[in-house]
Amino acid sequence: METKKRKQKQKRTRRTYKYQIREHPQNMRLGNMLDDLCDVHNHFLRLENRYYRIYGKYAGRYRLQPHLTKLLERTHQHWAWIPRDTLDAVIIRLHIAWERFFDFPGVGHPKFKRKDRYRSAKFQSGYLLEAGRVRLSFKEWDEASERFKFNKRWFSFHQHRDWKGNVRYIQILRDAVGTYWLYIVTDDTSKEVLPATGESVGADFGMETYLTLSNGEKIQSPKFLKQSLKQLRKLYKSLSRKVKGSNNWWRAVREIARLCRHIASQRRDWHFKLATDLCRRFDLIATETLNLDGMKRLWGRKVSDLAFGSFVEILRYKCFKHNRDFRQVGQWTATTKPCSDCGSKNENLTLSDRQWTCPNCGSPHDRDINAAINILRAACGPVVEQM
Ligand SMILES: [Zn+2]
Repeated sequence: METKKRKQKQKRTRRTYKYQIREHPQNMRLGNMLDDLCDVHNHFLRLENRYYRIYGKYAGRYRLQPHLTKLLERTHQHWAWIPRDTLDAVIIRLHIAWERFFDFPGVGHPKFKRKDRYRSAKFQSGYLLEAGRVRLSFKEWDEASERFKFNKRWFSFHQHRDWKGNVRYIQILRDAVGTYWLYIVTDDTSKEVLPATGESVGADFGMETYLTLSNGEKIQSPKFLKQSLKQLRKLYKSLSRKVKGSNNWWRAVREIARLCRHIASQRRDWHFKLATDLCRRFDLIATETLNLDGMKRLWGRKVSDLAFGSFVEILRYKCFKHNRDFRQVGQWTATTKPCSDCGSKNENLTLSDRQWTCPNCGSPHDRDINAAINILRAACGPVVEQM
């Protein structure tokens, strides 16, 4: 348990920068590499599954890595054109997936992947970074000398900003549209401390209003998916008219992926702006721990468009960066039913009551604002009575 906590802590100090690799016919090489890594993943997952059937546990990376060495020498030389640590990263990822499968109930069994779903490769060595371009090393089979030689190739990327800190590793990603991205992961922990404002706020997530603040402010979500739904339906319709697997069909698939990417980046942009705005105005920000599964059961697909989970992660990071106090109130803390004026609990409150009057002290309440005030109180100390 302790090691897991340490792992998480280490993770938090990483910072990722994302750059787009410029379109080039040679980007195909990156695609080939990802396809091979997908084979590696599926091959070792098949081994793990067999091991699991026989022994009831997973083999783990310390058994699989020596096995990979043998494979590369004997039967699977066609994988050897990829740097070894990139291959190892696939096994380590699999190892972690099995570890999670065994340690946490509810975590699914590691899955086989389709080539077009396999997205990323990690490079810890065998690369060189310069301003605007990255050189990747590949092993290549040389016919003349009958051995592997290192071959190198530069890929240029759009460096729209500089990265800070020491580079730990890089990742190559392929998204559903077919664009390649370079992720640069550094150990940067620098902060941009904002001046103190002396203000605290509690925030309540909701379906009607995205965020309700304890000062009575209500923030609406632009609902990006809803905005583009008409266009998306049109694209799906045109896809269904095409012959599956044809060139035009693939073009339509990419068109849909492009629109989905657009919606996701709109949402992400709005989340970042909202988080920055909150950090500028408040020293302490308190929210509720989200029960995403429960919300999905209650509200369905609509929750995904709101993406509360990723917003909380962005807010957490922003609070770290700007030196703000970010607190989360436990899922089982009562925040909706108690009156924020006298603390007595209104048991008759149902989900559809947006406005209510406290039966004890008679003060009128807006459901969400009342919850936001209770969240702020609970985050600052156990003031809300548990009855
Ligand atoms: Zn009351």
